[in-house]
Amino acid sequence: MHLRSSRNPQHTATLTQAIGRGLAPDGGLYLPDPLPRLDGQPCSTALADVAAWALRPFFTGDALEPQLAQIAREALNFPAPLTLLGTGPSAAQVLELFHGPTAAFKDFGARFLAGCLQHQRRHAARPLTILVATSGDTGGAVAAAFHGKPWAQVCVLFPKGMVSPRQQQQLTCWGGNVRSFAVRGTFDACQQTVKAAFLDAGMAEQRDLSSANSINIGRLLPQLVYYAAASLDIRQRTGRGASFIVPSGNLGNVMACVWARELGLPVEEIVLAHNANRTVPDYLDTGRWQPRPSVSTLASAMDVGDPSNMERMRALYPGVEALREHVAAHSVSDEQIRARIRADYAAYGRVWCPHSATAAEVYANLEPARRESRQWVLVATAHPAKFSEIVEPLIGREIEIPPALAALLALPSRYQELDPGLEPFKHALMSA
Ligand SMILES: *Cc1c(COP(=O)(O)O)cnc(C)c1O
Repeated sequence: MHLRSSRNPQHTATLTQAIGRGLAPDGGLYLPDPLPRLDGQPCSTALADVAAWALRPFFTGDALEPQLAQIAREALNFPAPLTLLGTGPSAAQVLELFHGPTAAFKDFGARFLAGCLQHQRRHAARPLTILVATSGDTGGAVAAAFHGKPWAQVCVLFPKGMVSPRQQQQLTCWGGNVRSFAVRGTFDACQQTVKAAFLDAGMAEQRDLSSANSINIGRLLPQLVYYAAASLDIRQRTGRGASFIVPSGNLGNVMACVWARELGLPVEEIVLAHNANRTVPDYLDTGRWQPRPSVSTLASAMDVGDPSNMERMRALYPGVEALREHVAAHSVSDEQIRARIRADYAAYGRVWCPHSATAAEVYANLEPARRESRQWVLVATAHPAKFSEIVEPLIGREIEIPPALAALLALPSRYQELDPGLEPFKHALMSA
C-alpha cells in the first residue's frame, strides 16, 4: 500500500518511508488512501493475531511485510482487557490500555514503532537520534521502548516542574542510551527546541534525527489493533457492535478508532472526550476551526489546543458536516473530573485516572435512551497510580502500584536542566 500526505496528494511514500520520516516533506501527515477494507477474521482475538490480520493490508508489498507478525508479537505482548463498569446487561465496558511498561496507552504505539525502526536500522551506519518533547506520558513510553537498543539514542525533553512526580521518574530513570532534559520552560518551549533541532543543518549533518510523536503513522497503526480486538470480542459475545468514548488530546488514539471503523470492524458511535481544551467540541458546535494555546488541566496529557491529527481527520471527513456525521465531542471541566472520580469510586469501586475520568463523565451525561441503545466502551488511557497526587485525595485511599511501574519508581533518577532554545540543547548534546 502507498500512503500520501494530507496536504499534497502527490507526496506519496511506502510504509517504511512514512515511518522513517514521520512527517511528509510538505509538512503534512501520512494517510492510507484509500483505506483498505478487511476480509475474513483474525485467527484469535489475541492482540498479536488481530494485528497480523488487521494491519496486513498496510504492510502488503512493503519491506516490513515479512516482519509484521514478529513486530506485533514483541510489541503487543501485554493485554488490553475489557472489564465491566457495574453490572447487568446494559453495563458499560472499560477498555484498559494501561497494562504496559509505563502504564499508559502510549506503550502500544511506542513499542510497535521501535519494532518497525529496528528492522529499518539494521544496516545503518550510525545510530538514530530520537528527539521527544513530552508533556508526560509519551516520553516515558518512548524511553521504555527504545532503552537498550544499540541503534538508537533517545533525548527526552520535558517541562521542568510541570509533570507529575511519577511521570518525571519514568522520564528520568533510564540512563544508557536515554538522556533526559528538564527544560526551564513550558511544553511548548520543549517542542520548539525539538523543532529547531530538526531544522538545524548542523544537527542534521551530524546525526540521523527522528521524532516519535503521534504524527508518525507507525504509532497509530498498532492503536487500531485494540479497537479491532475489543469490537470483535464484544460482537462475538453479545452480537452487537461497540461504541467508544475516547479521552482525546492530539487525536491520535481516536484517529485509530475511526480507522478501525472504516476498515469494516464492528464499531458504531465514536465520541471524543476532551478536557477544558475545547477546540474540537467548539468546532463541531460552531463550524469554526479555532486552534488556541492550551490551558492546563488535571488531565494534562490531553492539554492540546491545536491537535495535530485533526489534519488526518479532516482529510477523511472534509467539512464540519461530514465530521458531525461520524463523531461527537464533549468537553469536561476539572471540577467534573474530580466529581466523576469520586462518584464512580463510590458507586463501582472503579478508580479512574484524570484522563479516563473524562470518558466516564461523558458516558454519565449521555441521554439515557442513547446510553441504553448501544454497547458503550469507555477507553481508560492511563493507570491512576501515575496520578496518585490527584486521585488519592479524592478517593481517600492509596492506589496500589502496578509491578512494572513500581520497578521504574525504584530506579535512580538522572537528568540535566536546560534553558529552552536550540543552542543550550546542542551544547548539552556535545558534552556527552
Ligand atoms: C496522550 C494521552 C491522551 C490523549 O491521546 P491523543 O492520542 O493525544 O488524543 C489521553 N490520555 C492519556 C493518559 C494520554 O497519555
